[in-house]
Amino acid sequence: MNFPSNINSKLPAIGTTIFTTMSALAKEHNAINLSQGFPDFSPHPLLTEAVEKAMKSGFNQYAPMAGYLPLREKIAEKVEALYSCPIDPETEVTITAGGTQAIFTAILSVIRENDEVILFAPAYDSYAPAIELAGGKPLYYDLEAPEYRINWTNVKKLISQRTKMIIINTPHNPSGTVLSAFDMQQLDKITRGTDIVIISDEVYEHIIFDGIEHQSVLRFPKLAERSFVINSFGKTYHTTGWKVGYCVAPKNLMTEFRKVHQFNVFSVNSIAQVAFDEILPRKDLYLELSAFYKQKRDYFHKAIQSSRFKLFKCEGTYFQLVSYSKISDERDLEFVRRMTRDMGVAAIPVSVFYRHNIDNSVIRFCFAKEEETLKRAAELICKI
Ligand code: GLN
Repeated sequence: MNFPSNINSKLPAIGTTIFTTMSALAKEHNAINLSQGFPDFSPHPLLTEAVEKAMKSGFNQYAPMAGYLPLREKIAEKVEALYSCPIDPETEVTITAGGTQAIFTAILSVIRENDEVILFAPAYDSYAPAIELAGGKPLYYDLEAPEYRINWTNVKKLISQRTKMIIINTPHNPSGTVLSAFDMQQLDKITRGTDIVIISDEVYEHIIFDGIEHQSVLRFPKLAERSFVINSFGKTYHTTGWKVGYCVAPKNLMTEFRKVHQFNVFSVNSIAQVAFDEILPRKDLYLELSAFYKQKRDYFHKAIQSSRFKLFKCEGTYFQLVSYSKISDERDLEFVRRMTRDMGVAAIPVSVFYRHNIDNSVIRFCFAKEEETLKRAAELICKI
């Protein structure tokens, strides 16, 4: 049997994601895994208890396609309270199987053959393949290390009749930069009078430091009108493995989103939704998150300050970029492989987030870890 004999791959250049690859390598070599972004600590006990309670009280069948309504109502209340943006939980919120699914669904629901989508590289690795599967073309705007700032005049030059979408991500993975109100105003300015749809990936909305305020597109009515806003409970509640997130979008966009969502995942696991509904009113849990992660960021900074790595600024997310240019001139992928294998710490090479694998000798560490883990990792990092 040699059928199918010649699969014509839809994604010929794509292998297994760097997150899966590096986590597997870390495991194989028993290295401390600061590569794939996930906490090594537990969610709040109220949340795990709420899941058990939900399971025992009968929430074991399909959740509604768009998500458990009380949870969508709580999300609408939260969005209104935080960003003064009134949204309709019936028609403008959908619960998804994590941020990645929400992004994929949003792209698939509006992108057609030959539509162009502007991305900012380093760009999260799921964006471009999703665009390509929809028949669209990713158009990269390369952000330069170590500032990774956007010059909107140059972004405007990329816009043409074919531009269907712009994807932004703030706080930004992997750079840890945050878009300002000025950035948002510029985005508004260059999209006014166009049909450009925005995906605003805001999964790290509550992990933002040094008094910087998260500028959700939802604060800007003209941007909110054209945006899919992506969010993730995994990042906020230390539950990346539960794979629950949500999308907020105006009704006309959300109608298209749900047409795809219903035939892709149909609905998301019910017990987690019921549990998140219970925990969402606990504002302290998300309002304290910045301080919680700031402590980890600062601890990690201090612990690797004396190493030969050069630390970049980290305004948000639980990722720290560092340059290893004083240590080695290997390519970043080679460097992280060797680090994992021989030095016992795994990280993510940043070149994988650029279209042509632009390599600035920069790698990403995840600091969403217990202090003990960070301490052990830092000891190893300081020996490199
Ligand atoms: N968002 C996570 C990261 O950047 C990875 C998620 C995944 O592995 N799909 O590390």
